[in-house]
Amino acid sequence: MVGYIYDPIFTLHETGEHIEVPQRVVVINEVLQNFPLQRLPLHKASKEELYKVHTKRYVDWVETAYENGVRFILNSDTVLSEKSYEVACYAAGSTLPVIEAMREGSISRAFLNVRPPGHHAESGQGQGFCIFNNIALMARYAQDAGFEKVMIIDFDVHHGNGTQEIFYSDDTVFYFSTHERDNYPYFTGSEDERGEGRGKGFNLNRPYGAECSDEELLKLYDDLPEWFDFDIVLVSAGYDLMKDEMISTAQITFEGLEKLIEKILRYAGDKPIAFVLEGGYNLSSLARSAEITVERLLNFR
Ligand SMILES: [Zn+2]
Repeated sequence: MVGYIYDPIFTLHETGEHIEVPQRVVVINEVLQNFPLQRLPLHKASKEELYKVHTKRYVDWVETAYENGVRFILNSDTVLSEKSYEVACYAAGSTLPVIEAMREGSISRAFLNVRPPGHHAESGQGQGFCIFNNIALMARYAQDAGFEKVMIIDFDVHHGNGTQEIFYSDDTVFYFSTHERDNYPYFTGSEDERGEGRGKGFNLNRPYGAECSDEELLKLYDDLPEWFDFDIVLVSAGYDLMKDEMISTAQITFEGLEKLIEKILRYAGDKPIAFVLEGGYNLSSLARSAEITVERLLNFR
C-alpha cells in the first residue's frame, strides 16, 4: 500500500502575494482523488519533537513570533501568518504517522502532500519559504522507530542547505542533492561539501548548469552511493525543476521525471520510501508531476 498525507489545514499557512500558495496542495490533492491511497492521520509535532532537529531558541521564537508582530522569517521569502506556526508543526509532525505505518508494515511507500516546505530550514534559522525542516524531522522519527540508517535524496531544483546543515557531521543520515548551480541559496551545494567529522563522506552534492536536460539529470543519479546500507529512503520531492517552472532554467519533462522516479525506486529496492513535497509553483505542472510520482509509487516494481 501507498500511504498519503493531506489535510485542508495545510492551506491555512497564508502567504499573500507569493509563489508558495495554499492552492499548491489543493491541486495535488484533487489530481490524486481517484488513486487507491491509504490516508493517514495527521500529527502535530510537539516542541520537544522539533528540538530533535531545531534549536530550542529558534522553535520558541517561531512559536510566539506572529503574536509579537513578526510577519516574516529572515526576509520576505518566508511569510509568517497567524496560523503558520501551527501548520508548520503539522507539516513536520505528520511525517511521524508515515514512519509508524512503515514500521507496522501496513505501507512501504508514501507521498506527503504538505506545506510549508522544509529543506531550506536550518537548525537555527528558517528561510526560503521553509519554517521547519520536515524531512529532517522525518529522518529522526525514522531512527527512533528503528530505521537506523536514513538515505535522503533531494531533487528539488534548489540545494537543501538546511538538510545538509542538520546532518553535516552525522554518519547515520546520507544527504544526496541534485540542484541548479547559481540558484538559491547560492552559497551552498558545491561538490566539495562532503560532510565533516564522522559525517565526512555522507554528504554528496551534484549541481547542474543552466537548462539541465532529462539525460543530464538522470546521469547524476548514477552517483547515488551503492555502499550506503540504508534502512529507509526519504525524498525531498521538489517539482520546481520542471521545464514550465519560472524559478529555474531546468528543462525536465514529464517523461524525464517519470524515469527519475523509477530510478529512485529502483535504488530503494525493497526498503521503505517516502516522497515529501518541497517546491513546485506552476500549479498545472505541479499537479501532473505529483500524479506521475504517485502513479509510479503504486505501480512500479
Ligand atoms: Zn526549490
